[in-house]
Amino acid sequence: MAESSRPRDQGPSTRAVHGPHPGPGPESTPIIHSSNFSFETLEAMLEAQSRGAAGAFYQREGHPTLHACEERLALIEGAPAGLLFASGMAAITATLLGVMRAGDHVVALRQCYGGTLMALRWGAERLGWVCDLVDAADPASWARAVRSGTRIFHVESPTNPTLEVVDLARAAEVAHGHGALLSVDNTFASPVGQGPLLHGADLVLYSATKSIGGHGDLLAGAVLGAPELLRDVESARRVFGGLPDPWTAWLIERSLKTLPLRVERSNANAAELARRLADDRRIGRLNYPGLPAHPGHATAARQMTLGFGPVLSFEVADGAAARAVVEGFRLIRHAASLGSVSTLAMIPALTSLRRLSPEERARAGVSDGLVRLAVGIEDIEDLWADLDGALAAAAGARPGNP
Ligand SMILES: *Cc1c(COP(=O)(O)O)cnc(C)c1O
Repeated sequence: MAESSRPRDQGPSTRAVHGPHPGPGPESTPIIHSSNFSFETLEAMLEAQSRGAAGAFYQREGHPTLHACEERLALIEGAPAGLLFASGMAAITATLLGVMRAGDHVVALRQCYGGTLMALRWGAERLGWVCDLVDAADPASWARAVRSGTRIFHVESPTNPTLEVVDLARAAEVAHGHGALLSVDNTFASPVGQGPLLHGADLVLYSATKSIGGHGDLLAGAVLGAPELLRDVESARRVFGGLPDPWTAWLIERSLKTLPLRVERSNANAAELARRLADDRRIGRLNYPGLPAHPGHATAARQMTLGFGPVLSFEVADGAAARAVVEGFRLIRHAASLGSVSTLAMIPALTSLRRLSPEERARAGVSDGLVRLAVGIEDIEDLWADLDGALAAAAGARPGNP
């Protein structure tokens, strides 16, 4: 095979479309709807069984439709191996349950996804994990928290919903200095938007419900990294049993073929909306790492690719104004989630951070007037018209305005 046609040397779009086994055969992976497989000989059965997630023995251990998707995802990520899960939370909890033992110490960002923080609290209450939270914006706090006995330092970048940027190489240095693993929830950036393994991460985690699935129609998760590390994660997957069925696996692999295209377009749309909002007097604080004024811009520019992600957030006067904005949209949908083809808006104080007290929300930099936009692949002028119209309507609805 010619050097240049080796899949790992190709660009991300070519890898996404052609996958790890280019060549003649079916254009799309056949869906094998089978919970179990039968064998001519005992040797053949033992062989299939010994291949674990890569074999065809019993669906909960992994299955051919899923494995084809895992191989394609690993190729796109540039990871040696990958595992898919029934949800992002199934991926995150399998990682924690696979790696952590009673008494082990874990450090995570207090800005991490709410479900992740819930899983850590759950493990601390029931499984004897010792957990410390640190601030994404304060790297000195990471170095104070990570110590010998720390098994995992778990981060996200950019964070939700204030888009703080974590220097992944620095986080890796802190983790490895004490023999801990760095795991990165890379959901916001996506596998083509940031390569945490290149910056020293040991494990990369996804809610594949977001840009990997990309069409708002499925729930899935993924973990990628070295096979030695994935062995424990895979054993947790087998024990707890949360993995996608053949149909969902096929849908995910189909979506992967357009992942670079969708991410590039969403990121470009988000960057353009942020550019237009940057000097808009109708809003207050604007959070988007693509803006040169963002404190994490230089770090994001160093470690992100294809732009700066699809998510931005901005402040309007108060909760009532935020409500007027999201209810004023005609095209943009008022919904949770991100990474979909359609643009979604939500008010974090009333959704992801609803359970926090007002003081905790203030400490997290989330006011009642914060609106989060997860930008899709629509035409930019239609998005801007909708955003501009909703901001105008919200400004008009404010008491005292003519
Ligand atoms: C959505 C999300 C998750 C959870 O994923 P599910 O697929 O909903 O289980 C985890 N991390 C981040 C950053 C997310 O956005």
